[in-house]
Amino acid sequence: MPSYFDGHIEYLKGIGPQKAALINKELDIFTYGDLIQHYPFRYEDRTKFYSISALNDSFENIQIKGVITRFEMVNMGKKSRLVGHFKDESGAIELVWFQGINWVKSKIRPGVPYVVFGKPAKYGSKMSIAHPEIEPLTSSNESGGFLSPVYHTSERLRKKYIDSRFFGKAMRMLFVKAIDHIEETLPLSILQHHRLMSKKQAMVSIHFPKDQKILQVAKFRLKFEELFFVQLRLLKLKIARTDKFKGMIFDQSQLVTKFYEDFIPFELTNAQKRVVKEVYRDLRSGAQMNRLIQGDVGSGKTMVAFICGLLAIGGGTQVALMAPTEILAEQHFNGLKVFCDQLGLSIKRLTGSSKKSERNMIHEALEDGTLDLLVGTHALLEEKVKFKNLGMAIIDEQHRFGVAQRAKLWQKNENFYPHILVMTATPIPRTLAMTLYGDLDVSVIDELPAGRKPVKTVHYYDTNRLKVFGFMKEQLNAGRQVYVVYPLIEESEKLAYKDLMDGYESISRHQHFQNTPISILHGKMKPKDKDYEMNRFVKGETRIMVATTVIEVGVNVPNASVMVIENSEKFGLSQLHQLRGRVGRGADQSYCILMTDYKLSKDARTRVDTMVKTTDGFEIAEKDLEIRGPGDLSGTQQSGITDLLVSDLAKDGPILQMARETAKKLLENDPNLEQQENEPIKKQISRSKKSEMNWGRIS
Ligand code: ADP
Ligand code: MG
Repeated sequence: MPSYFDGHIEYLKGIGPQKAALINKELDIFTYGDLIQHYPFRYEDRTKFYSISALNDSFENIQIKGVITRFEMVNMGKKSRLVGHFKDESGAIELVWFQGINWVKSKIRPGVPYVVFGKPAKYGSKMSIAHPEIEPLTSSNESGGFLSPVYHTSERLRKKYIDSRFFGKAMRMLFVKAIDHIEETLPLSILQHHRLMSKKQAMVSIHFPKDQKILQVAKFRLKFEELFFVQLRLLKLKIARTDKFKGMIFDQSQLVTKFYEDFIPFELTNAQKRVVKEVYRDLRSGAQMNRLIQGDVGSGKTMVAFICGLLAIGGGTQVALMAPTEILAEQHFNGLKVFCDQLGLSIKRLTGSSKKSERNMIHEALEDGTLDLLVGTHALLEEKVKFKNLGMAIIDEQHRFGVAQRAKLWQKNENFYPHILVMTATPIPRTLAMTLYGDLDVSVIDELPAGRKPVKTVHYYDTNRLKVFGFMKEQLNAGRQVYVVYPLIEESEKLAYKDLMDGYESISRHQHFQNTPISILHGKMKPKDKDYEMNRFVKGETRIMVATTVIEVGVNVPNASVMVIENSEKFGLSQLHQLRGRVGRGADQSYCILMTDYKLSKDARTRVDTMVKTTDGFEIAEKDLEIRGPGDLSGTQQSGITDLLVSDLAKDGPILQMARETAKKLLENDPNLEQQENEPIKKQISRSKKSEMNWGRIS
């Protein structure tokens, strides 16, 4: 049955087909339902009047009342402006018009009390408001009015007078009828337990709030509802999956024990042990595992993944490990080959540059089951790569892969879905992880191996480059290695390349580094050449690595102790953190040097300061979320959470937590939503099913 909210906005009085078409196009608003959810993004406070003497130019729009004492035309060259001298009991301010001067002069009278609304600015010592809204003081606006909603619109819409005011009017028109059609979406028990406002009242109050307090209560209600339904969906997905997909059971631990007793090169940290245990529990449970391991750079995820893989191999199946770059695949392969040789396991590597003959051999060994562990890049996803029995798929740095790619790995086994272990070094704030990975189980490695010294981070302006060169020299003399990294600018690859080459030149020509072997690494190089250069650096044959961000992910050279990041203002926080993670991997004190231009934007300054202040990946991730908002964080685009209308993941963590717990409890008590009381929830889910087509995660 079509609902009132499916009605098309062109039928709303005051809109009509032409404006509707424009609004469809510009704002994606088609139906009454879309329109009513076009919430104001801020409110102008008309609940109180300010004293003129209290104003300064840090204020946003404010409201004052008083009288114009006189008008004055000020001519400056061709341009003239009208100035109205406006005062209240406390002081005076200038109202300024550059346009519509005749209109103002004919309508606005000196000596009559007015309410003035606008943004105060300061020129010289004088305060003024340009093009204020001005209306006569009346009994209705005298006591201070209301919070006036401000709606998003666009330049093109504004040209057709479809502005914030227009939406305000449209909303009022819409509510006349819509109000009777707004249904409660939450059961009474939840409303009461969390003291939530009714849906109807919340919808009215978010568009027409009487005061701040009511607005906050209304927002809280709508945020809770929004996050509750997201969590409900994710949790249901997870439950469905655990019920539906049986998993292979691995409980043979001889291989793991042998590795622990004879070969493991270091003791696991407590965090590593805990995560291994969590995975083991999954592997014995009989359900298919979908687990995310979150661990800061250098926390030792590779070893954890390998040990988990051993349980699958010990259970007679094969394991695939997929990395986002060839360099990283190479490194995993080299590192794990040592252990596999010791344990008598067979391991191979498959990447885009593997030779045909080699590929064929690998395909065969995979299908007849003689190959235990396959390490590679997305070459693993190719149709031809077939396993005899894939028991576990491990995905490193999962944020680099798309959802579709992950789903492909799922399909690599016929009878059972393989257990899936995804790893990420991008520390995702809890709130975001809950929304992004709400359907995965999450393990956190929150401890670094003993003996690591936190990397010292300093900020230098470009003008101090010689000093930095001197420091690099010292470290090289002490036997260390150095990275110098340049940003990769996608819009201008050429420019980025030039920067890199200039940098390389100036280092190699400098007297300090005349006899220092230097590697260079960038995206234009063939994979083979990249590997060659990288390997030279890994082996210590070259001592300085000048590179673009191709080295960002996962590379491990414990002897490298200095990371110089050029133009670091051009990097995002999480990228800076990843880059810094390339050093501090050995026992020596390591350093990260952030070079910047003198001019820094406010955000760039915050990023640099944050990096200098902390090495805690989670703290950095929180800051990142604060600066950029969730939409920009890697991976979130694919998950649909950017569609949140009222909630802000950077700020609404506590509400999200509440919503998740409520959803969990609800599903425990009434898994299929059959109780009469939960009818509103069921209805709401079926209502939103239509618009959920693109909610596709690995499933
Ligand atoms: P990441 O979590 O960033 O992928 P890696 O797995 O590359 O980290 O590990 C970083 C380095 O730490 C490697 O050289 C690895 O051998 C070493 N390492 C891992 N776990 C431990 C541990 N428990 N004790 C000492 N060194 C460890
Ligand atoms: Mg890693």
